[in-house]
Amino acid sequence: MDPLKLINNNGIVHIVGAGPGDPDLLTVRALRLIQQADVIVYDRLIGPEILDYARPDSRKIFVGKKKDAHAVPQTGINALLVREAQLGRTVVRLKGGDPFIFGRGGEELEYLQRAGIRTTVVPGITAATGCAAASGIPLTHRDHAGAVTFVTGHAAAGNDGPDWTALAQSRQTLVFYMAVSTAGVTADRLIKNGLDPATPAAIIENGTLPSQRTVTGSLSELEAMIRNNGITGPALAVIGSVAALADARPLTREAIAV
Ligand code: SAH
Repeated sequence: MDPLKLINNNGIVHIVGAGPGDPDLLTVRALRLIQQADVIVYDRLIGPEILDYARPDSRKIFVGKKKDAHAVPQTGINALLVREAQLGRTVVRLKGGDPFIFGRGGEELEYLQRAGIRTTVVPGITAATGCAAASGIPLTHRDHAGAVTFVTGHAAAGNDGPDWTALAQSRQTLVFYMAVSTAGVTADRLIKNGLDPATPAAIIENGTLPSQRTVTGSLSELEAMIRNNGITGPALAVIGSVAALADARPLTREAIAV
């Protein structure tokens, strides 16, 4: 018998953004799909309350990765998604923030498409916009910044990173993801390329969650801000004059009781 006959074509994978942590920041579509899923394959940064929306009988598979310590390697995740979909299941691949922003959503989508699996993508509120709202930092502002750039902190370590001369221009906002371990190098590179060391900077840890902390200072203090406050992440660094507008009080759901 042709082994392909065993494949059930009703299977589908939804690559879903879960937002930055606060479950209220899920999209309606994300919530609906989480409630319907047979299988939920989720990462480490999924807000703890979000899985409570799933069907009690759904299978919840943790494939989270911490920096340098992958719980399940990417190839294993890809194979798992294909296998579950081929069994005819509705699979939600749940990722923190937005799946297409530093989330490997693009790689998973390509793999699933090559395997002939029906796949949809549901955007999520990315950490930058979630944390900005929850700390009162407008990422663009007519008096401060006409552009915003999302950068991976890992880029600071290698040589094939971003164009530092472009990033060091003023009147724009930079948001560094995975910023904690490379903050010192990042600040050095920006300053060497001409960005004023006094440029305001903010670090937001656990943004939108009850444990959110926002620390502000200047670019030259970036590494010290992390060290002195014991920031271990997940955290973002926002660099640019808008960072000075940060509200020290978190504007999270709990803090403002909406
Ligand atoms: N796809 C995700 C990003 C994944 S990369 C998104 O769109 O948000 C993981 C990085 O995101 C973390 O190292 C951290 O820099 C950032 N991050 C995710 N959630 C965060 C949160 N609640 N607060 C601060 N930073 C967060």
